[in-house]
Amino acid sequence: DTALPAAISPETVLKNVFGYDAFRDGQKDVIHHVCNGNDALVLLPTGGGKSLCYQIPALVRQGTAIVVSPLISLMQDQVEQVKALGVKAAYLNSTLDPALQAQIADQLIQGKLDLLYVSPERLRQYGFQQTLKLATVALFAIDEAHCVSHWGHDFRQDYRALGQIKANFPDIPVVGLTATADIATQSDILAQLQLNNPLVYKGSFDRPNIRYRVLSKYKAFEQVVSYVKQQEGSGIIYCNSRAKVDDLHAKLFRQGFRCAAYHAGLDADERELVQRQFLTDKIDIVVATVAFGMGINKSNVRYVVHHDVPRSVESYYQETGRAGRDGLDAEALLLFDEKDAARVKQWISQGEQSERNDIELQKFAAMEAFSEAQTCRRQVLLNYFSQFSDSACGNCDICLDPPTMIDGTVLSQKVLSCVLRLSQQAATQYVIDVLRGKQLRRLQEAGHHQLSTYGIGKDKSDSYWHNIINQLIHKGLIRVDITANAALRLTEAARPVLKGEVAIQLAVPRLEFKPDKKAKQA
Ligand code: ADP
Ligand code: ZN
Repeated sequence: DTALPAAISPETVLKNVFGYDAFRDGQKDVIHHVCNGNDALVLLPTGGGKSLCYQIPALVRQGTAIVVSPLISLMQDQVEQVKALGVKAAYLNSTLDPALQAQIADQLIQGKLDLLYVSPERLRQYGFQQTLKLATVALFAIDEAHCVSHWGHDFRQDYRALGQIKANFPDIPVVGLTATADIATQSDILAQLQLNNPLVYKGSFDRPNIRYRVLSKYKAFEQVVSYVKQQEGSGIIYCNSRAKVDDLHAKLFRQGFRCAAYHAGLDADERELVQRQFLTDKIDIVVATVAFGMGINKSNVRYVVHHDVPRSVESYYQETGRAGRDGLDAEALLLFDEKDAARVKQWISQGEQSERNDIELQKFAAMEAFSEAQTCRRQVLLNYFSQFSDSACGNCDICLDPPTMIDGTVLSQKVLSCVLRLSQQAATQYVIDVLRGKQLRRLQEAGHHQLSTYGIGKDKSDSYWHNIINQLIHKGLIRVDITANAALRLTEAARPVLKGEVAIQLAVPRLEFKPDKKAKQA
């Protein structure tokens, strides 16, 4: 670049521009490789240090690095951050007025920029392609590279055209970067971007300081309140719709929590205010949709709660990964409910892009498997990203408090026969009300207080039965019929259990938060 002497080394830039003494794992190899004009794919978790992998080559190599980034707000932040270090950077997108856009294009052609951030649709435009031909391009960096693959959890049509870069600029290095990619997505990124003999660097995806917990969702609001009360510091609570975000936020706010809501339905000013309040610890909790988080650089988030199950392990990993970036103890809590899962599957099946539905269903199945795992959660997560680990982590709910298995045959028979007596027309809560013999008008009106199963489960709580029913669903003895108001139906497998021909092992329900946290850490 113009301001820097030629042949400056990556190590010098690291020190003089960014003020760091040493590269992190992977950065050095990738950066040298790209500086020498080669392609690379970098898979590093959020906070792993991906940006330097293209920012340093941008400064070492002649010309301007073109960085493709999907989010306008992210571009602005990144440009401001590097500008503060004295790097000549700009971004181009449709929010800028045309005169300014033209000015930036001129700067690009005249070689006055080290870094130029652009949206994928901008890169595709004919006019911009022509501008690029007049400029000296140091490299192309494709941020969030998983968006190029339809195997990824966040496929974007605009990213598809990025496959043309290599054809149009065969001699310019291309580096793809992502924090989430399963094996199928990884090889697809290489193929789609047509990377040439790339160095693939894959960092460890383990976040050992994050404790993973999954809890059977039952009276979610009370569970959230009791959880949040036990926490210190900042947290994010993810819900899967704007309406739920607003609702949960209003309830928490009324209870006196310092919280704010965040979703794409709020205008830009409001969202920015929430971000700033959260960053500066003016509020403790953000209740949000997935719109919150990308690019939020808050290192001391102590917990992330999923009020609703995410659609893929990748999303779950990315969202939980916002906790504990400072390396201190943090927690990820998922409230899982079989009914939610059934609903998600229905939404996916009704998706408009039917060719994607099967992929999404597979991805969701993996998320369900994680939620229902009876083995170390971290192992399940890491295995999903093909980082097989054969030792249990010691820092997840399963490791810390292994499920106790009991002979659940009688418990199962109680539930199954109650479902049967209710003609397989009743949903979970109704079945529980009958089992527990509740004095409810609707039961009496339907004559269900006279069933032989009325009250046979008095000795256990609602949440206990809820959990048992979920286990029976996981075991395939009951299914939730979402086309009939979530009525519980028996499957073929239920028959031998009802007849007492086979025994059923169940885990003792895990419903409460044990205040074991401090003790276990000590
Ligand atoms: P990612 O893009 O992978 O989420 P970033 O590139 O934003 O991660 O880096 C995360 C943080 O780590 C940033 O604050 C960055 O300045 C810092 N960082 C990156 N590389 C190094 C390094 N070699 N030494 C010290 N800090 C680093
Ligand atoms: Zn574990």
